[in-house]
Amino acid sequence: MRAAILHGPGDLRVEEVAEPRGEVVVEVRAATTCGTDAKMLAHGHPALGPYPAAFGHETAGVRTDTGERVLVGDSAPCGTCAACRAGRTNLCRAMTWIFGGFAERIAAPAAALHPIPGGLPFAAAAMAEPLAACLHAVGRGPREREVAVLGGGTIGLMLARLLALDGREVAVVDRHTARRAQADDLGARGVEAIGDVPLVFEAVGRPEAWHTAVSMVATGGTVVLVGGCPAGDVALPGARLHYEEVDVHGAFHHTPAEVDEALALLSNGAVDHAAFAGATVGLDGLATALTSASEPGAAARKLVVQPDR
Ligand SMILES: [Zn+2]
Ligand SMILES: [Zn+2]
Repeated sequence: MRAAILHGPGDLRVEEVAEPRGEVVVEVRAATTCGTDAKMLAHGHPALGPYPAAFGHETAGVRTDTGERVLVGDSAPCGTCAACRAGRTNLCRAMTWIFGGFAERIAAPAAALHPIPGGLPFAAAAMAEPLAACLHAVGRGPREREVAVLGGGTIGLMLARLLALDGREVAVVDRHTARRAQADDLGARGVEAIGDVPLVFEAVGRPEAWHTAVSMVATGGTVVLVGGCPAGDVALPGARLHYEEVDVHGAFHHTPAEVDEALALLSNGAVDHAAFAGATVGLDGLATALTSASEPGAAARKLVVQPDR
């Protein structure tokens, strides 16, 4: 079958590879891209296997055994480790990660598959993966009415949509006009800067942005770190953490239940997938589209990869 394979930073090749083997094989109909994929292409990523590596983790398609339409979850928690037993399956210490959506077929454990509700298009279903991570992140913060989201990428905008749906007053901080306009369309408010907000979601994933989030939150407020930084230490304003009791919560990944919840929100229209969908490309167009989509200032949209295109 054909697949987009990373051979090293910046070196993506579409090539013939062996058929995937696993519990269930899914014919990929749509795989969406996100910032992580752009990072994987540009610099590599700790979660990638050794090169040559398959990637793509927001994948929807059809089971080859039953014909059922499914979202292929990017992870299957073990169910038995301490984190899983405590109900925090997003933190599973023995997680099976499932990459390889940018291919004609992908193999996955049955436990990682989620039925796609009703007539939800495949490309929309694939977005349940990042949306589930946003649902998880919202749950990591207190129910403050006034909220800021730092960063108007697709994750920041999905967070903004979920918070607006919950009746919160949401400001999305981004220096790019196009992204502020997107925030306005989602029931939030795009702003260039804001201060003194009791709850801040950081959705950039850079050490400077973590620092900014802790600096800008109100005294006694909470910061939820949604964007992952490269491994290593990050310096934060210590006086704010101690003398001003700023709480900092990490938010990582999602649980299988949150994936189903995300599918339901996309299916009933509460979250309009079209607001996040960008160009549709085949496997051959992925490298170019992924590079240009990550240009600063562009509207935040996900590419839709259709392997049979
Ligand atoms: Zn993603
Ligand atoms: Zn586990």
